[in-house]
Amino acid sequence: MRLRRIGEPLVRERCALRAPGPGQVLLKVRACGVCRTDLHVVDGELPNVPLPIVPGHEIVGEVVACGPGVSLAAGTRLGVPWLGFTCGECAFCRRNEENLCDRALYTGYQLDGGYAEHALADVRYCFELPDAFDDAHAAPLLCAGLIGYRSWRFAKDARRLGIYGFGAAAHIVAQIARSQGQEVYAFTRPGDVAAQQFALSLGARWAGGSDQPPPELLDAAIIFAPVGALVPAALETLRKGGTLVCGGIHMSDVPTFPYALLWGERSIRSVANLTRRDGTEFFELAGKIPLHTAIQTFPLADANLALEQLRTGKLNGAAVLVP
Ligand SMILES: [Zn+2]
Ligand SMILES: [Zn+2]
Repeated sequence: MRLRRIGEPLVRERCALRAPGPGQVLLKVRACGVCRTDLHVVDGELPNVPLPIVPGHEIVGEVVACGPGVSLAAGTRLGVPWLGFTCGECAFCRRNEENLCDRALYTGYQLDGGYAEHALADVRYCFELPDAFDDAHAAPLLCAGLIGYRSWRFAKDARRLGIYGFGAAAHIVAQIARSQGQEVYAFTRPGDVAAQQFALSLGARWAGGSDQPPPELLDAAIIFAPVGALVPAALETLRKGGTLVCGGIHMSDVPTFPYALLWGERSIRSVANLTRRDGTEFFELAGKIPLHTAIQTFPLADANLALEQLRTGKLNGAAVLVP
C-alpha cells in the first residue's frame, strides 16, 4: 500500500521483491501498526517525503532472507521501529544521542515501511520481541510503546503524572506508570467519556476532559495529542518545578501564554525519535509487566480505512494491519 501523492489515498500495488543488501534482512510482514505519524506523512505535515513510499514503522516480521554479513535463522521474529538508520559519525551519534542524528533515516518516511507483505530492514536497528506478545499485539509497542517509553523516561520521577491524548501511546505509558507506582491523570477530548472510561480501566486515578482541572497539581505531564493549545493548558496543571513533555513529532502551533505559567522553574521539552538503548530497556520492561495492548486489526488492503478511522478518532485501541 504505497503513497504516490501527498494527501491522496494509498495505492495498492504489486512490486518485485528486492534482495537484502549488506546488513539487511528481508522480512515477511506479519503485522504492522498504524501510527499518527503515518497520517502526518500522508498529509504532508512532515517535510520532504520521497515519493512513492510505503508507510508503516511498527513492523513485526519474520526473516525470510539475509543480506551479506547477516546470519539469522529463517523464521526469526524481529520488530522494525521508526529509527531505520543513523550515521554513527555526527556529533549526536558520538554523544549516544542517535535519536538526534543529522543523517538519520526513518522507516515508513524515508525508507519503505511495513504497509506491505514484505519489508527490508537494517538488522542493526531491529529488535527481538518478548514472547509474551503475539504479532498483532506486539506491533504498537514499536512506536507507540517506544516513543511513549522515551517520553515517560523524562517524567518517571513524578508521583502524579498527567497524560494528554489517551490513544495508543498513552494506554501503554499508563500501564508503565502504574507498574512503577505513579498516579495517572488522563486528559481526553472534552466529552470523550469512552476514552475516559478506558483510562480508568487501565488504573488512572482520575480522567477528564482537557478543559477540566485535575483534583491536584501534577508533578509532570506528557502531551501525545498533536494540539499546541494543550501546552499552556497543561502548564496550568503543573506544580512549581514540574515538567511538561511533548511526545509527538508534529503539533499545531502553540499559542502565546503568560510567562507566569512557566515561571516557578516549570520546564517544557520535546521528545524526538528513539535510541536503540530505549528499545532494549523498553522491551525488557514490556515483557516483565507485562503490558497489554488494545488493538483493532484490519486487512492490509484496508490501510486507507484504518488511517481514516485514526484521523477521525473512531478506533478502539491501536490499528494494526495484518497482511
Ligand atoms: Zn549521526
Ligand atoms: Zn509512530
